Amino acid sequence: MTTMSFIGRDIGVDLGTANTLVYVRGRGIVLDEPSVVAINLHTGGVLAVGAEAKKMIGRTPAHVVATRPLKDGVIADFDVTERMLRYFIQKVHRRSWSKPRMVVCVPSGITAVEHRAVVEAATQAGARQVHIIEEPMAAAIGAGLPVADATGSMIVDVGGGTTEVAVISLGGIVVARSIRTAGDELDNAIVQYVKKNHSLLLGDRTAEELKMAIGSAWPAPEGDLQRAEIRGRDVITGLPRTVEITTDELRTALEEPVNAIVDTVRTTLDECPPELAGDIMDRGVVLTGGGALLRGLDERLRQETGMPVHIADDPLHTVALGAGRCVEEFEALRTVLAARTRSLLPAHAR
Ligand code: ADP
Ligand code: MG
Repeated sequence: MTTMSFIGRDIGVDLGTANTLVYVRGRGIVLDEPSVVAINLHTGGVLAVGAEAKKMIGRTPAHVVATRPLKDGVIADFDVTERMLRYFIQKVHRRSWSKPRMVVCVPSGITAVEHRAVVEAATQAGARQVHIIEEPMAAAIGAGLPVADATGSMIVDVGGGTTEVAVISLGGIVVARSIRTAGDELDNAIVQYVKKNHSLLLGDRTAEELKMAIGSAWPAPEGDLQRAEIRGRDVITGLPRTVEITTDELRTALEEPVNAIVDTVRTTLDECPPELAGDIMDRGVVLTGGGALLRGLDERLRQETGMPVHIADDPLHTVALGAGRCVEEFEALRTVLAARTRSLLPAHAR
């Protein structure tokens, strides 16, 4: 299919802190790239966006920075966010005469100013109409939960910058919590642990790879001890060195941020009206976002909440698929799109 076929097609965007995904009506997910932009500080020009920019993290000369404009679940840099969004949208929507409608999912803690900045960026990028939808709602739709019914559904979305926990019923968010502990904090905990216990400095990317390979939130079954060799820089000598690390060690390293995530789920369940809590007991909690792939996180939540826990089919795509359903069934989901909630302040801001 050629670029021409995108003309006038509505677009759904998952503007995540770690990854941005674009869904085109009738086509599905057509773009999935890290939310990273590399900038030349001399000229202010954008050198690379997405996967190419992510490769540059920790490897740039002094005049180049590879930044994540949505670090920590908020838009840390308006200007760069706008450029990134524009770049991605133009990549899938070139040479068009009719402007698309756009559904953009944003981290739920964003402020009114950031909200406007996203609308502005999407408009600049060519949208005729912009609808903002909060991540947990999009995630619930993407996971196929019955969001419009009079039944409670719980979504736990563990992304890069934030973990969002929400209970949805009748097309709206009933209770929700958002904390700035998610994938990035897990990576950071690994960096700290390896520095303290092995006197080795790791880059963020190495820590992330280690987390994905053998990270864990629940003891592995007997005889399934996994290990990995990692290379970093010795704290004392400054020279490269290799150490071996086990999955058990990583579980210890990740304990604090994992506890924070578990506690947030428990608190949200506590705040949940009894009828909805009963519904969740029946239907279970749905885990989405890249963090859902952390080994044993589902089991840990099962043990600590007593609720059934399911990992969404494709946790890294759930939110984009939800945005996609919104553009496919624009009219049918209008009420959900209109049901804006401002209750989703990060816990620390309440
Ligand atoms: P966001 O919505 O904030 O962009 P994502 O849902 O795309 O975030 O998830 C990105 C996070 O998921 C990153 O922190 C990444 O390290 C983490 N992640 C991806 N795959 C795995 C995995 N297999 N195990 C653990 N964490 C993972
Ligand atoms: Mg997300």
